[in-house]
Amino acid sequence: MSSDIGETRLADPVVRRPRLPAIRTQLLIGGEWREPTTTAGRSVLTVFDPATGESLAEVADATVDDADAAVDAVSVAFGTWSRTSPRYRADLLRAAFDRLMERAHEFATVITSEMGKPLAESLAEVRYGGEFLRWFAEETVRTSGTTRTAPDGAAVHMTIRQPVGPALLITPWNFPLAMVTRKIAPALAAGCTVVVKPAEETPLTALLFAELLETVGVPPGVVNVLTTSRPAPVVSRILDDRRIRKLSFTGSTGVGRALLAASATGVLRTSMELGGNAPFIVFDDADIESAVEGAVIAKLRNGGQSCVAANRFIVDRRVADEFLARFADRLRAQVVGSGFDPATTLGPMISVKQRDRAAELVRSAVAGGASTVVASGIEDDSTFLGPILLDNVDRRGAIAEQEIFGPVAPVYRVDSEEEALDVASNTEAGLVGFAYSRDAARLMRAATALECGMVGLNRGLVSDASAPFGGIKQSGLGREGSEAGTHEYLETKYISHPFPAV
Ligand code: NAD
Repeated sequence: MSSDIGETRLADPVVRRPRLPAIRTQLLIGGEWREPTTTAGRSVLTVFDPATGESLAEVADATVDDADAAVDAVSVAFGTWSRTSPRYRADLLRAAFDRLMERAHEFATVITSEMGKPLAESLAEVRYGGEFLRWFAEETVRTSGTTRTAPDGAAVHMTIRQPVGPALLITPWNFPLAMVTRKIAPALAAGCTVVVKPAEETPLTALLFAELLETVGVPPGVVNVLTTSRPAPVVSRILDDRRIRKLSFTGSTGVGRALLAASATGVLRTSMELGGNAPFIVFDDADIESAVEGAVIAKLRNGGQSCVAANRFIVDRRVADEFLARFADRLRAQVVGSGFDPATTLGPMISVKQRDRAAELVRSAVAGGASTVVASGIEDDSTFLGPILLDNVDRRGAIAEQEIFGPVAPVYRVDSEEEALDVASNTEAGLVGFAYSRDAARLMRAATALECGMVGLNRGLVSDASAPFGGIKQSGLGREGSEAGTHEYLETKYISHPFPAV
């Protein structure tokens, strides 16, 4: 079966989903898989397939009492885990990488089932997510300090690095595995123990991964998992416990801000990976074919539901017609449908609510004068949205200010390099920016001027375990990946000693 959704083909949305592997659906606390503590009967959180709306599984719905138990467990485990040797922790992370690669297809099936992205993209996420295990396995044994002779020659100053302490890790639904490994791997590498709170929409991948860590020998209590439909009280209970020393959060800027405020009470170390509003600049001397290739990746990877998705296409007027025509052809060629249909290039959005949010941004842009170059049909109660391309979009509209988080590409025409860079940085977000040009000097000017934590020059993808991922301004604090990723979980201790007399 296939029908039309606007200008793109809709693959069969109910193509048969493979059976899910066996997944433990209880809470993981102190090495035990347990039912939640509740006085009001069995409490569960239902996980849905976004392509069909069918229920996939019911997982345990943690309460604040379970939060207390998890903090007990993570604190006890910290006492021993923080003293293990770096080589031991490195070997465990490497074993987890190897096991994950062996089971890549199984994990990809779970990701597509609960999040919806095409299976090929889920496999790419497993490889990307796995790279954090491999990278931090390698980093574990390379944590170094410094020594310095005091300027007056009287003392030698040393620094050593020690684990921050038990950490709370909160992840979003858009990369159900990679956001979890990007936090767990550096935390474990540094010697921290963790409580993981995955997103309500996609807890199955996190649970399966926690079980994988058990099978390779990660000791009880080092990794604990709380799934819950009540993130606010459960998380605030954990943050209020003085034994917790670190919060690493990936999610929306609004929730991140509230959690930063909540972390002030315990003066916690925080890492905040928040929302973006990425500019994608096409200068008049860009290789348009390559810019279109990058635009397709930057816009449609993960169906646009990514914090590093291109949110604003800022295109020099002299090349705008050509860019739009070629980009439109590529968008019309997408096949929308179930992530399990091999023909699908664009899966469902995570929920009808998110789909409606993106559609509303389109409606308001069109009401503000934008013209529709590629349109999508919008069916009631469907999570599917085809790619949408808009031209001549008002720079002050909601679509310019908010994260679209869907397959919608607004184009803003500009007349000069200066204007392009001005428009690009005119946002509160500062996660990533992209720029296309054949002029190396211009690219470096753009990279320097863009107010964001990451820049892609002549490429539409920057995510890499070996690179420092993170934002400035309202896009967050701290970095994940690279050596900076481990430092987020380490404290620097300075030790002073009299300089030995010779
Ligand atoms: P979200 O903020 O709604 O939820 C993220 C996590 O926070 C989930 O686990 C959720 O249960 C939890 N949460 C929600 N409300 C909470 C509360 N009051 N107290 C404590 N925890 C709470 O975000 P989302 O919709 O899951 O994810 C989309 C957002 O994440 C987008 O804004 C996107 O840009 C951002 N994101 C950022 C990055 C990055 O690295 N910068 C990566 C992926 C996603």
